[in-house]
Amino acid sequence: MMPYDYDLFVLGAGSGGTRASRVAAAHGARVAVAEEYRVGGTCVIRGCVPKKLLVYGAHFAEDLKDARRFGWDVPDDLHFDWDRLRTNVLAEVDRLNAAYTDTLNNNGVTILHARAEVTGPHSVRLSTGEEITAERILVAVGAHPAIPDFPGNEHGITSNEAFHLPAIPKRILIAGAGYIANEFAGIFHQFGAHVIIMNRTQEILRGYEIALRDRLLQISLMKGLEFRFDAKFEHIEKHEDCLTVHMTNHEPATVDCVMFATGRIPNTTGLGLEAAGVELDNGAVKVDADNRSTCPSIFAIGDVTNRIQLTPIAIREGQAFADSFYGNKPTRVDYGCVPSAVFSHPPIAQVGMTESEARQKLGSVKVYSSDFRPMKNVLAGRNERALYKMVCDGDTDRIVGLHLIGPDAPEIIQGAAVAVKAGLTKADFDATVALHPTMAEELVLLR
Ligand code: FAD
Repeated sequence: MMPYDYDLFVLGAGSGGTRASRVAAAHGARVAVAEEYRVGGTCVIRGCVPKKLLVYGAHFAEDLKDARRFGWDVPDDLHFDWDRLRTNVLAEVDRLNAAYTDTLNNNGVTILHARAEVTGPHSVRLSTGEEITAERILVAVGAHPAIPDFPGNEHGITSNEAFHLPAIPKRILIAGAGYIANEFAGIFHQFGAHVIIMNRTQEILRGYEIALRDRLLQISLMKGLEFRFDAKFEHIEKHEDCLTVHMTNHEPATVDCVMFATGRIPNTTGLGLEAAGVELDNGAVKVDADNRSTCPSIFAIGDVTNRIQLTPIAIREGQAFADSFYGNKPTRVDYGCVPSAVFSHPPIAQVGMTESEARQKLGSVKVYSSDFRPMKNVLAGRNERALYKMVCDGDTDRIVGLHLIGPDAPEIIQGAAVAVKAGLTKADFDATVALHPTMAEELVLLR
């Protein structure tokens, strides 16, 4: 007799949970995964994927304008049809949701469309009332948007709702200044909205290289985005067809929509983890390098832990967990040199340390940069400059950080990140012949 219903029970079929379930089942484990919303999770259903499709859609606003300088006749009364884009994006989300579901089914994973809560070290309860036991439990429930607590906050939306808006607001206030805030600011601006970014501090994109943050701020201001710094919500007043946002240190702002992009909170509330002795750190599940929580049979991966909240990390953690415990291949995720991007207009991409982090850690650093106007922008008459910055260890010449803002920066950084991860030096980059004419060639011509 099998002592447990399953070898592995996974809570959440998002980026991490789907990968862990599929791989563990492929290794021969009996696996069930519970999903309370839609298979695919945040990234596929209401994160990276639909967001990137909106970024593509938004970029046409500038591309079509620029096309005139490249000889194309583009009518002055350009019309953007939000209904059409939203429908097409949501159809693509449906397609991916079905593809993820098929993958799990094809690998013999049992999908349970229900919310699950932990009731003990080896047991869970579904919202249907069913009790299930498993030798191991994997918590992969992700995170949800934080909503600041103040009167009238019920009138705001989060990124979850942004993909389903009935219409593009004429005026939107986005609270927060992290990557999600800046990405949606670019999206709504390109779709014709007046965008106000409101933040309680004086900076945007904390943690990113300061020169790039300044550049994005400068370009955004030039494009007409409005910034309200040192601003905290007082209250939101709802009128018949608009909202007035009252905030500290600034005049009230009247807008059609308020969006909170003020951080993400791990989904641990009411999950029953305490019952099994799982310790939390600020709401996130505390885990060791093998993704094990303080309860030996319960593991956690992805955004519900306090590591890096990115899809490729959740996927790697899921893969490492499944390979380690079901594939006889002990694996740990290497968190060094993880590249990341902000799909703003223009985008930012980075890998490794910022200049100030490197100075603190290494003492002696050398910095190289290139501040240039991309060829395409020159002909288009677009006064937007790109900035590339390389941070090197002053003693060894090894590249420890690479930071780019400019067209296609995320596409460019992925390749360069391989070189940074491999420990290459500035001299190695310089020894590589430039590929002309590209923007990426600046990487081997930095001064
Ligand atoms: P998730 O993918 O969130 O999956 C968790 C799943 O668990 C969800 O499907 C949820 O419904 C389910 N669940 C929760 N509680 C329960 C329960 N009790 N029982 C059953 N099911 C439950 N990352 C990038 O790398 N690049 C990007 O460009 C990017 N853009 C983003 C844009 C936005 C707007 C957002 C919100 C996020 C973005 N991210 C991006 C982050 C990325 O989506 C997450 O890091 C990633 O999805 C984390 O994967 P996960 O498996 O930990 O959790």
